[in-house]
Amino acid sequence: MNLRFWRTAARHAGVSFRYRRSQQGEGRHAIVVIDHKDRVVGRLDYRICRECRIGYVEQIEVAPHCQRQGLGRGAVHEALAHGPEYHWTTSRQSADGRSFFAAMADETGLAFTGQGAVCPHLRGGRLDPPARRRR
Ligand SMILES: [Zn+2]
Repeated sequence: MNLRFWRTAARHAGVSFRYRRSQQGEGRHAIVVIDHKDRVVGRLDYRICRECRIGYVEQIEVAPHCQRQGLGRGAVHEALAHGPEYHWTTSRQSADGRSFFAAMADETGLAFTGQGAVCPHLRGGRLDPPARRRR
């Protein structure tokens, strides 16, 4: 199931996925799920380290009345498209989150290990590090 599938499915459900650069800092990104009345019904926050090729899903939430319609899955596919073939991790804090990401791991073939942010840049909050200066 590729990204095109999810975008088509989303259109049928009357929702769309929009990318937003998060206001919370460099290297932080978000996929926002918008319904047909332009209301935000879901959100996925993630971080990317291009240097280490790591993606980290920080949190994902879908409005209660929109759950179990594949919106969370669609948002994950949108985020994955931003870091294809990266190593993706998540915190898997809640029981819901653990079962969700176990299902996503099955579906995508990605590990979605629950180790949290695994590289020093993501751990230290220094994201998308600038190119090293030459001496
Ligand atoms: Zn890194």
